[in-house]
Amino acid sequence: MNYRHVYHAGNHADVLKHAALLAVLARMMRKESPLAVIETHAGLGVYDLASAEAQRSPEWREGIGCLMEAAPLPCFAPLVTAVRGINPDGLMRFYPGSPALVAGVLRDQDRYAGCELHPEDAAVLKARYSADRRMHIHARDGWEALGALVPPPEKRGLVLIDPPYEQPGELARGARAIGAALARFGHGVFLWWRPLKDLQALERADSELLAQGAKGGLEARLWLGPPTPQGRLLGSSVMLVNPPFGLEEDLRALCAALPEALGLNSLGGASVQVLGRI
Ligand code: SAM
Repeated sequence: MNYRHVYHAGNHADVLKHAALLAVLARMMRKESPLAVIETHAGLGVYDLASAEAQRSPEWREGIGCLMEAAPLPCFAPLVTAVRGINPDGLMRFYPGSPALVAGVLRDQDRYAGCELHPEDAAVLKARYSADRRMHIHARDGWEALGALVPPPEKRGLVLIDPPYEQPGELARGARAIGAALARFGHGVFLWWRPLKDLQALERADSELLAQGAKGGLEARLWLGPPTPQGRLLGSSVMLVNPPFGLEEDLRALCAALPEALGLNSLGGASVQVLGRI
């Protein structure tokens, strides 16, 4: 377990993932009934952009740094508001990870269950949310825990899958995990983050998702440039299985606005695709 998200916090991939996450939650919260948010790979919750690690490669400057300066658009507003909320003095010091973003919008009737395998990160998360009865942190393997966490008693839920992709085969593992969870929680909403390094790998992951029983998905993709021989991260993809009604419109607005907001050149772009049936 070498992956440390602090090196990447707030980068272009986080911006796409977190803007999509907040759009999904806003759609799901149009209903009053309780909602469970289950996360297999929770991370640290809040990232200090002034830490030595984050400063080593300040990827956030080309992600959330640009978004905070961009024209204020409704599709960016929830993320921009959350970032302003944890930086009340107006300086860009902290970036909220998914647990913090979820905690910021959960209602009293909702619940978050997040798994984090890194013992120190899990301890920090537990301490951060110890007084919040809606937030449940599990210091355990998220792949293994998912079977026990779905279906949630609330019957309505979002499952967030955001692995570090350190191990070979983690894309196929994600597809299999969604397939197994769908078998138990067929109407659950799944948000699956995938790196965009190699287009064929992403196509194989999509095929695997369908082979595992998903009838389809809605994908938002953001890329900074063409694939390189070094296989560097050129962008990212967020796949939604069972997307809530109206989300396609939200993602289209987001993908139409992100390239300009992030100052991408003509080699970059963003798009929304439908896989199979949604
Ligand atoms: N979801 C977070 C967010 O959006 O703010 C970022 C998560 S980061 C990409 C991946 C995290 O998964 C890291 O904190 C890593 O320690 C953790 N991790 C790695 N393998 C894991 C596993 N098998 N189960 C749970 N957590 C794991």
